[in-house]
Amino acid sequence: MATLKHSKQRDAILNFLMSRKDHPTADVVYSHLREEYPNISLGTVYRNLTLLSELGQIKRLHIGDGVDHFDADTSQHYHFLCSECGAVIDLKMETIDHINQLAGVGFDGQIAGNITYFYGLCPKCSAKSGQQEGA
Ligand code: ZN
Ligand code: MN
Repeated sequence: MATLKHSKQRDAILNFLMSRKDHPTADVVYSHLREEYPNISLGTVYRNLTLLSELGQIKRLHIGDGVDHFDADTSQHYHFLCSECGAVIDLKMETIDHINQLAGVGFDGQIAGNITYFYGLCPKCSAKSGQQEGA
C-alpha cells in the first residue's frame, strides 16, 4: 500500500489523537499536523484517518453534526454532542449491548448495529444559559 511511505505521519496522527479527549475532526488534526509536517495535505490526513479506522486503531464517529470526529479510545462508549458549542464528550454510562436484540423483536430483517449519540447542552453551555436566565 502506498500509504506505508507515510507511516511517520500516520504515527503522528495516532499520537495526536491519543493525546486528545475532545474527538477532533479531520480539519483539526490537519491544522495540528501541519505544525510538524508543513507539506502534509488534508487529503493525506484524511486517508490516514480512514486507514487507521479500518485497522481498528481509532474510531470514526458519526455524530449528529454531519462532520466525522475521530477517537483513539476504541472501547465501547457513548458520546454526547453539545447543540450549542459542538463539543463531543464521552459519557460514563454503561453500554447497552442488548439494544440490537430489542430492535430485532418483531422485525424479520437482521440488525447489524446501531449508531447512538446523545445531545443537549454541555456543562459549560449549561452553566452559561443558567447565568443568562438569572441575569
Ligand atoms: Zn457546549
Ligand atoms: Mn470517545
